[in-house]
Amino acid sequence: MGKSMPAAGQTTADIIRDLETYYEPENLYLRTVGLVLDAADLLDVPHEVKLILSQPKNEIMVHCPVRMDDGRWELFKGYRVQHNNVLGPYKGGMRYHKEVKLDEVKTLALLMTMKCALASIPYGGAKGALKVDPRELSEGELMRVTRRLTAALGGNIGPDYDIPAPDVGTDARVMAWMADTYINFAECSSKVTARAVVTGKPLEFGGSHGRDKATGQGLVYVLEEMLPGMGMEFAGLGFSLIGYGNVGSWTGRLLQQKGCRMHAVLDHTGAIANPDGIDAGQLAAHVAAHGGVVGYPDARAISEEEFYATEVDLFIPAALEQMVNLEHAKRMRCKVVVEAANAPTTPRAEQYLLDHGVEVLPAILCNVGGVTVSYFEWKQNRLSETWDAAVVDERLKTVMCRAARRVLETAAHLKCNLRLASFAAAIQHINQVYAMRGVFP
Ligand code: NAD
Repeated sequence: MGKSMPAAGQTTADIIRDLETYYEPENLYLRTVGLVLDAADLLDVPHEVKLILSQPKNEIMVHCPVRMDDGRWELFKGYRVQHNNVLGPYKGGMRYHKEVKLDEVKTLALLMTMKCALASIPYGGAKGALKVDPRELSEGELMRVTRRLTAALGGNIGPDYDIPAPDVGTDARVMAWMADTYINFAECSSKVTARAVVTGKPLEFGGSHGRDKATGQGLVYVLEEMLPGMGMEFAGLGFSLIGYGNVGSWTGRLLQQKGCRMHAVLDHTGAIANPDGIDAGQLAAHVAAHGGVVGYPDARAISEEEFYATEVDLFIPAALEQMVNLEHAKRMRCKVVVEAANAPTTPRAEQYLLDHGVEVLPAILCNVGGVTVSYFEWKQNRLSETWDAAVVDERLKTVMCRAARRVLETAAHLKCNLRLASFAAAIQHINQVYAMRGVFP
């Protein structure tokens, strides 16, 4: 047996060592696989399932030449990582960010596999990215680069195979261009259901009611389920947010509706605070007009250090991965970290917080509302139906509450923290399906 095929009985550490020996120990993908395998070790998961989950099935890399408005040509690197599809078609967001790296995309694809399994959504996990800062492009350039990326991915995406969605730096407009390009290029029997190739589309072009706010709304449903067990209720809770984009701004507005108060916000432009509360709706309007939270008139500009040290009940990272590190954790004064972004807390920061009595609600539970309403959109497209906003909300609530209860029950049963419990609950589902289907051939 070759070096890359560990024999049955090898430990999690052996599998990780065999993955890629040149990885640095702080590598996000390695850390995440490590946690997933730790969770699998709490269950009776066969070795081959752990091996399969330790690497994505496919890692696709494309290069897209695009002519810019001034006549220059630029080459943009794109990724699509398809981690696992045992539960259904690959599913995951498409990120536009200048600093994006393959390992980050692999990590996010793995987390999507876990998320869909935890919520019992019939999808596998994928993630895509384009190395670009969309804020530096004109609308025409953004459209050309999106169309070129979609064409380059070609048959690697499709409504029955791999379904992208919005993520950091992409929105409903980008999804509409992706769907339109796919419909024009792909050999598809039905041009109507072909738009189910992506979710998060504009409402008028096959989008779903409630998709925009879905991730924030799902997070609020998780809190509804979890807060009472922590002896807390919404009214009067103070919170802070990292990121005021789609997820952050909807979370802020929906928590405000529940009677909570937003004390501080940090985004890529800087940080602001107001001990009396920042109006979430007005801040969303300010960000839409000015591109970031800085300059919002009804709050004071603060430093990043001050932001992390602001006393709140709920600390909600809703920006990028690994933003909350040990140094930040030592400053933080909160009761609960609610992970809206994917993998926002470093393992050391998480351990420190848990050791100091701070509860950490894991991302694969807290932000699964986004893919849940994406699934509803895909379903509506395939059935040529349009569900009312109230129906979407009600069905989202059912999924979120069921997932939250599963995590709590698994944590109690396995006597582990909520992150390991969320992974264990997901792996249990995947493992059951592998046990039924077997591993090909
Ligand atoms: P977005 O592009 O709408 O917003 C991103 C936010 O992050 C912006 O407010 C930006 O200012 C902030 N940010 C970027 N760099 C920063 C930095 N260095 N410091 C502070 N803030 C910074 O993205 P989004 O869709 O809101 O996604 C946010 C997170 O939620 C990501 O981790 C994403 O993967 C995750 N997520 C999104 C969805 C969804 O439905 N959009 C679903 C599940 C998970």
